[in-house]
Amino acid sequence: MKRGTRRIETQLAVIGTGIAGFAASIFALRRRLDVAQFGHSGAMAYTTGYLDLLGVHDQRVRTDPWAALDDLRRDEPHHPMSGLANQTIRTAFDGFTDTLGEMGIGYTRAGERNLSALLPNGIAKPTLSVPDTMLAGVTALETGASTLMIDFDGLQGFSAKAFEVNFAERWPALRSARLTFPGMENRQIFPEVLARSLETRTTQDALAVAIQPLLNGAEYVGLPAILGMHAPDAVLARIQEAIGVKLFEIPTIPPAVPGIRLRECFERAFPEMGAKLEPQLKVANVEFGASGATLHLHGPMEDLQVEASAVLLATGRFLSGGLQSDQHRLSETLLDLPIRQPEGRQGWFRREFLDPRGHPVNRLGVEVDSAFRPVGPDGDPVHEKLFAAGAILAHQDWARQRCGAGLAIATAYSATEAATAALG
Ligand SMILES: Cc1cc2nc3c(=O)[nH]c(=O)nc-3n(C[C@H](O)[C@H](O)[C@H](O)COP(=O)(O)OP(=O)(O)OC[C@H]3O[C@@H](n4cnc5c(N)ncnc54)[C@H](O)[C@@H]3O)c2cc1C
Repeated sequence: MKRGTRRIETQLAVIGTGIAGFAASIFALRRRLDVAQFGHSGAMAYTTGYLDLLGVHDQRVRTDPWAALDDLRRDEPHHPMSGLANQTIRTAFDGFTDTLGEMGIGYTRAGERNLSALLPNGIAKPTLSVPDTMLAGVTALETGASTLMIDFDGLQGFSAKAFEVNFAERWPALRSARLTFPGMENRQIFPEVLARSLETRTTQDALAVAIQPLLNGAEYVGLPAILGMHAPDAVLARIQEAIGVKLFEIPTIPPAVPGIRLRECFERAFPEMGAKLEPQLKVANVEFGASGATLHLHGPMEDLQVEASAVLLATGRFLSGGLQSDQHRLSETLLDLPIRQPEGRQGWFRREFLDPRGHPVNRLGVEVDSAFRPVGPDGDPVHEKLFAAGAILAHQDWARQRCGAGLAIATAYSATEAATAALG
């Protein structure tokens, strides 16, 4: 039988379902734009769930991200966040975290200082905003409170003992224990499976019963991030009430529950908010015309043709497929946008793998003008109605600078504002 083609018209087509793409759709919906978003799984399933703004600048960990942004503007004027005022970035961050709260996943609001948040291998990192389920861990570390860290038989990559050993001097009141997860004896277990099983009251109660005898006066209990998939704040509240001490989660190694939670939360909420979302479909190609662009997608059952007045590209870097490389050059995958780069591969890396300055290849990407429109070698926009945001942008090294989500949210906000203005 002949495949059908479904046709969609939209004002803004957002390409990419990472933090930048979802943030762009949120901001566009707030501006009452008609939005359609397309993408596939990507880096989001790997994220800790923490929203970093700027944790490291000039090879130093920074406690004040806003002062660090001031320094970034001076030292790296081409960084995608350097053209944005602190107030703009704060508005973007607050807009994003407030919307997440309305959708059902509580996040702390951006404060004046970075928080020191726990990571699975018994270390901490600077970040600006954390899921509400993880906030008590920040407080417990800060105050050195008496805390019981728990891991589970069969769960790889999360060791309660590692916390006890690594934090021995700084946090002597931290103890560790290992439990068998209720109903999952003698087997390898995965955080996503535990989170889905903790959606049920039976498992929540059984876990609380298992934790209680281990408390021994602890003020806080830390668990890997497994407290449900759809309503983590409610699951935490219920188990916390049952055990009678404060409870918090810590992100696990990828693929981790906090990113999957975010993705599933957007997938649930967006259609209700009025966005057309295809979260399992990549855009195959795009043609630009006088009035906008036509996007072509090929689903398992049908093809999709999207007529969009403007396009926002948020396809990420190598891991998510936004950038690719061969033996000679690095390229932007979907539109073959120009990427300024060294002549050969030897210019991509520094000699030492652990060079504290990082590697040039991590800063290559799509160049944009002040309205976040990709530009050609002459500096002119490739198309008046094409915008880009997030990790695909040039002149940033989000992993080294600890600015992944901040970069995604702030540039998505500004690119969406520019697209709104261009659409009149
Ligand atoms: C291991 C790991 C840990 C991280 N931890 C943190 C952290 O602690 N704090 C923090 O702030 N950030 C963290 N991040 C960064 C964060 O998850 C994002 O990578 C970052 O915010 C950039 O988001 P993005 O939306 O620009 O790109 P991505 O998240 O990479 O998303 C790109 C999207 O584009 C889609 N796509 C690609 N090509 C197409 C196409 N042709 N058509 C349609 N869609 C397409 C992909 O499927 C994907 O959905 C982490 C990332 C990783 C990998």
